Amino acid sequence: MHTETDQKIYSFELFPPKTEKGFEKMQQTVSTLQALGPAYFSVTYGAGGSTQQRTFDTVDWLCSEKIVTAPHLSCIGSDRDEIIEILEHYKSQRINRLVALRGDLPSGVGLGGLGELSNANQLVELVRETYGNYFHIEVAAYPEVHPQAVNAEEDLGFFKRKVNAGANSAITQYFYNPDAYFRFVDDCRRVDVEIPIVPGIMPITNFIQLARFSDGCGAEIPRWLRKRLEGFGDDLDAIRDYGSEVVTRLCERLLEGGAPGLHFYTMNQAAPTQTIWKNLGL
Ligand code: FAD
Repeated sequence: MHTETDQKIYSFELFPPKTEKGFEKMQQTVSTLQALGPAYFSVTYGAGGSTQQRTFDTVDWLCSEKIVTAPHLSCIGSDRDEIIEILEHYKSQRINRLVALRGDLPSGVGLGGLGELSNANQLVELVRETYGNYFHIEVAAYPEVHPQAVNAEEDLGFFKRKVNAGANSAITQYFYNPDAYFRFVDDCRRVDVEIPIVPGIMPITNFIQLARFSDGCGAEIPRWLRKRLEGFGDDLDAIRDYGSEVVTRLCERLLEGGAPGLHFYTMNQAAPTQTIWKNLGL
């Protein structure tokens, strides 16, 4: 595979902290990672929950620091007017990059809470209808197939719909099998989806947390990796060391194979991402 673009895009994802202490830690993380010169920081957003204000507060702070920010915006559980209100606010802050998602409803919210937009393609359409090309829109991609999808081909068809609705580029769910990514990109090109597809990279720091999280989002931890990580037990240093070696190798293979950049799921920690970054010599 050839390099798709000479200018690779590197970005870092944050989640909105719950506490003041968490906010301070995130601020330190941002200042450390900002020194690496990423294209932007993105901030996650919880669908239909009380966490939304925390996203706005985090985005406000990043903007006040003049840091290029791409808020995530999910549509499930929201009405069009609510989405437009949020987009107006972002536009007033000169934000012009978004990660547009369907999101997942918090458990316990029934179908009545779905709102007016039930899939990400409708959100992308709404943003394009209302703002033309003002926003650069990223959407989510799933090299190992979205957990609710009936099969890979149908999932790909829905992914293409998001792209046709006007997405500029995509960020993938994390994965540890580079072949899943390369095959997904090949499948996209086969159906004439040509946008850049940036791999989402999850550093490995805590095996139990990662295993729980992966079950929910359909990301596979390959058996060889799971067994190795399990073998380290409570030895967090060993997990981190082994994890950064594995993830560095993954990133190398992705970049060598033509990935247009990397999007790091930082989990608001600077060190794991920084280590991989240094290993890669970026
Ligand atoms: P969609 O693209 O709408 O797809 C969801 C499912 O529906 C898939 O199975 C798909 O095959 C199917 N589908 C798609 N379109 C249609 C259609 N038109 N008709 C019928 N079926 C369809 N979650 C959060 O809550 N907050 C975040 O900040 C967040 N950030 C994320 C960032 C990235 C990079 C990624 C990869 C995921 C993120 N998620 C986040 C998780 C995401 O919200 C969930 O994976 C969610 O279940 C799907 O969102 P989506 O935008 O991919 O949905």
